[in-house]
Amino acid sequence: MKKPVVKPQELTVEQRINNFAEVVSGYTEEEMLQEATRCIQCKNPKCISGCPVEINIKKFIYQLTQKDFKGAFETIYEKNRFPSICGRVCPAEYQCRKSCVFTPKNSPYASENAINIPLLERYVGDYARQHNLTLNLNFQPLTKNTTNYKVACIGSGPASITVAGELSAYGIQVDVFEALHTLGGVLSYGIPTFRLPRDVLHYEINLLTNYGVKFYTGVIVGRTISFYELKKTYDAIFIGTGAGAPTWLNIKGESLINIYSANEYLTRVNLMHADKFPQYHTPINVGKKIVVIGGGNTAMDAARVALRMQKINSINDGKVTVLYRRTELEMPARKVEIEHAKEEGVEFQFLVQPIEFIGDKDGKVMGIKCLRCELGEPDESGRRRPVPIKNSEFIIDTDLVIVAIGLQANQTLSNTVSELKTNKWGDIIVNPETMETSIENVYAGGDIVGGEGTIIEAMSMGKKAARSILQKFGLI
Ligand SMILES: Cc1cc2nc3c(=O)[nH]c(=O)nc-3n(C[C@H](O)[C@H](O)[C@H](O)COP(=O)(O)OP(=O)(O)OC[C@H]3O[C@@H](n4cnc5c(N)ncnc54)[C@H](O)[C@@H]3O)c2cc1C
Repeated sequence: MKKPVVKPQELTVEQRINNFAEVVSGYTEEEMLQEATRCIQCKNPKCISGCPVEINIKKFIYQLTQKDFKGAFETIYEKNRFPSICGRVCPAEYQCRKSCVFTPKNSPYASENAINIPLLERYVGDYARQHNLTLNLNFQPLTKNTTNYKVACIGSGPASITVAGELSAYGIQVDVFEALHTLGGVLSYGIPTFRLPRDVLHYEINLLTNYGVKFYTGVIVGRTISFYELKKTYDAIFIGTGAGAPTWLNIKGESLINIYSANEYLTRVNLMHADKFPQYHTPINVGKKIVVIGGGNTAMDAARVALRMQKINSINDGKVTVLYRRTELEMPARKVEIEHAKEEGVEFQFLVQPIEFIGDKDGKVMGIKCLRCELGEPDESGRRRPVPIKNSEFIIDTDLVIVAIGLQANQTLSNTVSELKTNKWGDIIVNPETMETSIENVYAGGDIVGGEGTIIEAMSMGKKAARSILQKFGLI
């Protein structure tokens, strides 16, 4: 009989809800071996094409069964320089695990018994970090910056750091310019530490400095320095500025006090340490009846952070409720995040659409007027559309709202470069084959091109852009 998937250890709910410690532990060596040996080494493995950056999953899992950790690291690193990051946050249930032979055909997401590829990848990344594995990959130059080419990357999210990794490996000098004081984009300001500890994130980004990549933080291209200055200095530019602007519901009362966008809320805690106020200078308001609106990863992160903020502030009779217009089945958030949120005590109300925020005499939010919905025909995303039910109005009491219904292009840069073509949402238009923009030798990728996507998709676009740049330079 097929052995079941090896489940990782997790902190108990009591151990996790009043702090930001990582919830899911990695496999022990014994657990890793048990899981790796479940892989049947398919003759034609589908998991590899299920991975947007096409890691040779079959090979690295085999290397793990042989305890060839350096070999496994090299196999992954050849395609992905961020195994500890991706092993923690990749939505593998819709990607490699969904393509695993243990997932039934046509299943919308991975079966529970699909090989736990991300946890095996995380094992390799964590092992490499803990054992300081050095690399000697055959595609890397022996010395730094062996060509005279210079490339600038704007933004330091997954798309840009992938470009930096790929190009520096070919001896190109890469300089990364980041607006914030910390590197990583959403990985740093959006995803909470209980999902992605910052030592893991910074270790993998900092490895790039071994290949000569230079990072400049606190530099807003388009404000601190102009795009045209960069254009004069660099042979090519990659724009990976992400989708950092919030989407609002645009309903009455949305500017009331204590209504945050998820981005602001998460940035205050994850980046500015509002959980440690006044030791750090950024405060945050903590409600007792917090409502999070949305059904994606951002909503789950906001809800779980909000819950911890209540506990840290000794609000033990507080409540965090997620409102979503569709049902749980249509929620875009990762299943594991929904499960963790539920375990931790986050409540859910499905088929609910907010139509107005109600304020008190001081201008603070005190309620949300909502309509009940039912599911109609599928929309362009393939998910069944929420249809509001007439006369179904009701009010939810609240004292703090976090709006997490999506993000859109950060246009700080594109607004200053008239030749850069964008679509009606502000996304930069690229040639999808090369990722080149309307300006020659200027490339773009990640969420600034495709809207809100995933980390590995941003990395995949970064790889495509890097390939085009290498071809342009005649290096491949
Ligand atoms: C809260 C949250 C949770 C998520 N969880 C997951 C998850 O679990 N799994 C998953 O796969 N995906 C997840 N995503 C989506 C994923 O994080 C993004 O798709 C990915 O980070 C996009 O990468 P990027 O490189 O395009 O941009 P970003 O990560 O957005 O990085 C862009 C960077 O560019 C900088 N920048 C912008 N303008 C300028 C400028 N003018 N000059 C200099 N720098 C600039 C920004 O400060 C930012 O640091 C999540 C997103 C959010 C918001």
